[in-house]
Amino acid sequence: MLFKTIAKSEFKRLVEDLLKEEEVIGPKKIGEREDGKAIHQFLPVQSYGELDLEYGRTEYSAKTYFLPYKETLSKYKFSNDNWQQEIEYRLKPRFMIGLHACDINALLRLDKVLARDSYPSPYYISRRRNTFIVGIDHPPLEDCFCRAVGADVVTQGFELYLTSLGDRYFVSINSDRGFNLLKKYAIHDVTDEDTQAYLEVRREHAAGQKPLNLHDIPNLLDIEFYSDVWRQWGQKCLNCGSCAMVCPTCYCYGVSERVSMGGDEGEKSRQLYSCNLKDFACVAGNHNFRPDPATRLKYRYYHQHRGFTETFESPLCVGCNRCGRVCLAGINPPAIFNDLQAEGGA
Ligand code: SF4
Ligand code: SF4
Repeated sequence: MLFKTIAKSEFKRLVEDLLKEEEVIGPKKIGEREDGKAIHQFLPVQSYGELDLEYGRTEYSAKTYFLPYKETLSKYKFSNDNWQQEIEYRLKPRFMIGLHACDINALLRLDKVLARDSYPSPYYISRRRNTFIVGIDHPPLEDCFCRAVGADVVTQGFELYLTSLGDRYFVSINSDRGFNLLKKYAIHDVTDEDTQAYLEVRREHAAGQKPLNLHDIPNLLDIEFYSDVWRQWGQKCLNCGSCAMVCPTCYCYGVSERVSMGGDEGEKSRQLYSCNLKDFACVAGNHNFRPDPATRLKYRYYHQHRGFTETFESPLCVGCNRCGRVCLAGINPPAIFNDLQAEGGA
């Protein structure tokens, strides 16, 4: 990793240059809640002023740009005794500016499944390879727990990573693409003062998050498999699936095929799914392996914090608490873990 600093005014110039030719996506304020808090989403922007790099959170994660809610995998046509198949991958480069560490960590976790494991997805990989990522540090939010799952810092998965030091950014450069982009702009070597200021910001951010001890969660989940905690929380669940839709790491999906009446054309599409939906584990003969909300809710937590950890040595969850914020039933990971820990005597 290489470190430099860049004046914020110079970074603005960099983004404005990008906007002349490239697709730029970033956190954009789209409204306000009743309590006056801003609502942000990752959206394409047309000017630097539309970017709000001091945002707290986006409602949806950056996942939607790599694993869209719905996408066409292939189309086919049959004519003159010939099949024609159409498959589209993303080849056009784009820039995503302003991802927090948890959202970059979420992409790194998705990479393990969708870019490297037994069945890599060329659709996902094409989007990852063609997206230039600029991350940014932020003060901890009152309800996130990224530190407890090791997702509050990030050392890979981005080209550039910014930490605000007043009128300048401390820039961590992590790729040739990042270095080459910066070459055209006025950047500076890091001074002792910059390093001290950077470390102070990092310390403040680390100290600002509410402590939550999750280090023994995989074992606790094994021990509390039959705990009444699952029934208590499960009976509140509305089976709406919103938690998985906003989650930056939930990747379960269903595939469907549409064939024309004449059989001469059709398409295959993929749509994100949620293990909290009633029919998620339903198989032929209408047998449902997880017929009640408690087992479905439990399954989501076991996948995020038990199964994924066993396979990839870190939880799938990055502690953003988007699932907790969107849930109309008030179900959220810290509350469930507190109850499990209380049940287990922790
Ligand atoms: S946990 Fe909450 S958001 Fe998720 S399916 Fe249940 S009610 Fe919906
Ligand atoms: S806190 Fe919830 S939404 Fe965020 S990564 Fe974990 S499971 Fe997904």
